Amino acid sequence: MAGDAVLFDCWGTLFTTAPASGPAGPMGVLADGLETEVDADFRDVYEEAFMLEPHDGYATPVRRLARAVGADPDGETVTAMVKGLEQLADVQVPYDDALPAVEAVRERGAAVALVTNTDATSLARLRQSYPLDGTFDAVIASCEVGALKPAPAIFEAALDRLDARAGTAVMVGDSPRSDVWAARRLGLRAVLVDRGDKYGQLDHEPRVRDLTALGNHL
Ligand SMILES: [Mg+2]
Repeated sequence: MAGDAVLFDCWGTLFTTAPASGPAGPMGVLADGLETEVDADFRDVYEEAFMLEPHDGYATPVRRLARAVGADPDGETVTAMVKGLEQLADVQVPYDDALPAVEAVRERGAAVALVTNTDATSLARLRQSYPLDGTFDAVIASCEVGALKPAPAIFEAALDRLDARAGTAVMVGDSPRSDVWAARRLGLRAVLVDRGDKYGQLDHEPRVRDLTALGNHL
């Protein structure tokens, strides 16, 4: 049965800041500057430092992240990281299949929401480049609602805004933990978008390599 509401993750699902041939993503810039490694813990502290509240510019969350990992970068290093992040925020590219897939879902009569862990600068630039608020019935961003996926609060905010119930909603995202398992715990169905074919060995059905056949799973 078709879902009444479809929630889309943003980064890695609809949009990317790191084309395959391009520079490392924001975490790569930060890990280089802070001389640390990108691992699951670093991802969590990065999201908490950058994506839980609005900010004016990247210097504040960069310093917050540095404190959280016990680093003490000098001013020049902070400036270089800020510049690297700003460059990435300017390179936001939708995957070719992304916006047609969202449009196809709308044509089926479902309400659509963007549900994203994102920082305020990236969100503002994305809104300048793409008509997000005309494309989605609701844009639910962690930095605006003060909750990060996988926390229930951000999914509940999306369902609330769409006036939808978990039992008839579907989450579509590229993170098993933040999108798929988190949504299923709340009673939504979920589709894993595995563009890099990273999860073929695991039981993550339904799993799609891109969004062209998404309609078969809604
Ligand atoms: Mg994602």
